[in-house]
Amino acid sequence: MSRRPIRLAAVVILAAAAVLLPAAPALAAPVYKLPFPCGQVWGGQTYATHSPLNAIDFNRADDDGDYVVASAPGTVDMVSEAAANYGKYVRINHTGGNTTLYAHLSAQWVRVGQVVGYGTIIGLVGSTGGTSTGPHLHYEQKLNGTAVKIKFDGVQVGYYSNVTYTSTNACQGAGTGAGWIDMTPNGTTITVRTGPGNGYASAGTLADGTYVTIYCQKTGSSAPGTYGPSTVWNRIGTGRWVPDANTNTGYTGFIPGVTRCP
Ligand SMILES: [Zn+2]
Repeated sequence: MSRRPIRLAAVVILAAAAVLLPAAPALAAPVYKLPFPCGQVWGGQTYATHSPLNAIDFNRADDDGDYVVASAPGTVDMVSEAAANYGKYVRINHTGGNTTLYAHLSAQWVRVGQVVGYGTIIGLVGSTGGTSTGPHLHYEQKLNGTAVKIKFDGVQVGYYSNVTYTSTNACQGAGTGAGWIDMTPNGTTITVRTGPGNGYASAGTLADGTYVTIYCQKTGSSAPGTYGPSTVWNRIGTGRWVPDANTNTGYTGFIPGVTRCP
């Protein structure tokens, strides 16, 4: 529901992108999916006075606080707390000069350098930033810093129109999850295990608040914790597991769309 121009932000972003993405050869964009969990239905509006012109605004009923997910695999390269027009936003670099941008968020659940996959939750729908007049997701697909016409599943969205879209993001269970270590009491560390249970050997520790990428999940031994007890364990690297009971993922138990570990 953003209706006022945001040209200043666009100029700033373009300038920053020019510095960050020097003369990278354009590679084919990834297959972008709707930036919402599998199966969700959203209205996507494009309009001739939108800035940048090729952006889209997503809405659905009672969407304040709904999950926003990554459109495609990539690496988070910008997490802005208070841009004048975009408000809180996240940008994901998909390589080859291809980036996606998610604006007006009420919260960001990733940080710069974090690897994300299809369906990874990156934040929550909100209404932050000067140009937002109500909760919605402002979304852009960019090539070398310039917003280009948006495609989902290889099909360009309508310009200019309001179309209903259904997400196919991570519907095949190939997504990764994201979260952070949440300890009680605050400030304590967690022991990373070499397998899905506290009976496995230690693989080091992680500080409370550490952001983690969840490559897959599996049922293991029951663990106590901030959200426990739970038998769900999250694989956060090769031979590195943490209990879901101490991982804030935004979900209780298994995360929709995230792979089950073999
Ligand atoms: Zn917008």
